Parts: sequence; structure tokens; C-alpha cells
Amino acid sequence: MSLLSIVIPAYNEERMVPKAAEAIGKVLEKENICYEIIFVNDGSKDNTWAQIEKISQIEKNIIGVHFSRNFGKESAIFAGLANANGDCCVVMDCDLQHPPETLIDMYRLWEKGYEIVEGIKKSRGKESVIHKASAGMFYKIMSKAVKIDMSRASDYKLMDRKAVNALLNMPEKNAFFRALSSWVGFKGTTVEFDVQERTDGESKWSTWSLVKYAITNIVSFSTAPMQFVTVAGVFVFVMGIVLGIQSLCKYFSGHAVEGFTTVILLILLIGSIIMMSLGIIGYYISKIYEEVKGRPRYLISKKVGRKENTIEE
Ligand code: UDP
Ligand code: MG
Repeated sequence: MSLLSIVIPAYNEERMVPKAAEAIGKVLEKENICYEIIFVNDGSKDNTWAQIEKISQIEKNIIGVHFSRNFGKESAIFAGLANANGDCCVVMDCDLQHPPETLIDMYRLWEKGYEIVEGIKKSRGKESVIHKASAGMFYKIMSKAVKIDMSRASDYKLMDRKAVNALLNMPEKNAFFRALSSWVGFKGTTVEFDVQERTDGESKWSTWSLVKYAITNIVSFSTAPMQFVTVAGVFVFVMGIVLGIQSLCKYFSGHAVEGFTTVILLILLIGSIIMMSLGIIGYYISKIYEEVKGRPRYLISKKVGRKENTIEE
């Protein structure tokens, strides 16, 4: 019988961990699906790890992975996938905003031979107007970069073992899971789900962390911002030629001193474009530097559950 692994990153989710395990268990046991849950404690500051340890002692099919500090959701997803034993893996949020009932649809589609089943948001749940607008802009840029429509994409998705292994074999550290799992290809389909409201705890994303997240992910998938530097350069060059000819004409016809405004404007314009361009290039270089250092995506300090019993550790 095939095994379904459910990977759940958890950061300060002490109250949601048992609730999530229970809700998932209820749904899957009813359908007789053989499953395991991998909770990845992403350096929580509360009792999340104690909760994971506790339920892993009661339920034999719960695995816990404990990070040495907070490494972020993307790293937690990869750690969960690396510790999963299933023939297929689903990644879902700990806060039950991804309804467990959708797991059944995903699993059935996988049985029919689909290798990637993406959860698509039917509605985005409750969000502020500004959040919606900026998320919309981010996804427009990402969709262009990945060349796949991502406006309703989520991290809730099922992947076949083949796709999981492909992801795990990628050397890059700045991985954007949501887009990479589309990038690998394979035979895919989608299921729709309604984003639920968080019942406990709070969202971990501040506006600033979302902006950083957006920039990192755009940079990891697209070099278009660097092309902006070239375009801006060409634009300034053309302007320079036009103004150059104009001032030469003025010089030879004898009214040269005027036009100080033009000089100031030009200095300001060119200066700002150069600085912006350097900033963009610098950002890419810093990302290259991070990759070159080759540090691990995460460090695990402890593990509990199934693997501990079966595999040497
Ligand atoms: N999460 C994580 N590490 C972090 C931030 C979040 O593992 O640094 C997890 C969190 O526990 C949850 C999921 O990522 O399971 C989604 O987080 P959240 O619900 O805060 O995001 P939102 O639903 O508001 O986008
Ligand atoms: Mg959430």
C-alpha cells in the first residue's frame, strides 16, 4: 500500500499542532489512506516542539524535525520533504487554512497517475486591500518570470516521489518552493480549495517580511531587473546624444552659457539611474555570494518519530 507523507512547517504554532494532526488524521483514516505527518519546527519560540514530541509519542506515524533556529518556511518545507518516506508528499500549512478534505482529492488524482497536484486558491480568504494589491503585483511579476500563471497558486500541493527527488537534488539555496515545483514539470493537474480562516495563533508575515520574500523570489527566478540596467543605460545614452547636439549647436551659434538647469537635471537623472543599477547588480551579487558559500539550507538539532526507530541516528 502506498504511503502519503504530509509535510507541515510550524513556527510558533503550539496550539495548532495537535489540532492539525487530529483534523488530518480524521479525514485520512475515514478514507483508509496510509499516511505519516512530518512536523518541522522552524525554531519556534513557544512550546511547539514539546507539542510535537508529545503527539509523536502517542501517534506512531508522526515525525518531528527540530531546527536549531528559525530558517524560514521554505527551508522547513525542504527539510520536511527530505525526511519524508512517502510515495507522494503533500505540503500544507499548520494553521488549517489549507482544508484537510482537499487531501483526499489530491490523493485520488495521484492514484490516477498525476505526478503534481497543485492546490489553487478559489478565494484568497480575508486580507486587507493593500495586501491583496501587492500580492497581485508580486504574482504578476512571478508569473512572467516562471511563465506559469501563479495568481492563485499556493504552497498546498501534492508531489510524486519523482518530483520530490528532483526538488531535493537541486543545489540552489534560494529556492522558491511554489515556483520550483511548477518548474520541474511532470504530469500535473489542479484542485481548487477555499482558504479557511486561521482559528488560532497569528500570521507570521509582516509587510516588510513579505516585501523581502517577494524580492528574493523574483531574483531567484528572473534576471529581468538586471536588464533594466541596460535599458536605462541606452535611454540615457540617446538623451545624451540629443542634448549633446543641441548644446554644440548653441555653442557654435554663440549663446552657450544658458542651460544650467539642463546640467543639473542631467546629473540628478544619470546619478540616480547609476545608483539604482548598482543596487540591483549588488543584490544579485549578494545572492550569488550566498549560493557560492554553499551553506546548508537548515540545521537540524533533533528528530523524533518513525525515522529515529528504523534508521541509525
Ligand atoms: N512558517 C514557518 N516559518 C516561518 C514562518 C511561517 O514554518 O518563519 C509556517 C507557519 O507555521 C505556517 C505556514 O508557514 O504553518 C504559513 O504561515 P502563516 O499562516 O503565518 O502565513 P499566512 O497563512 O498568513 O500566509
Ligand atoms: Mg496561514
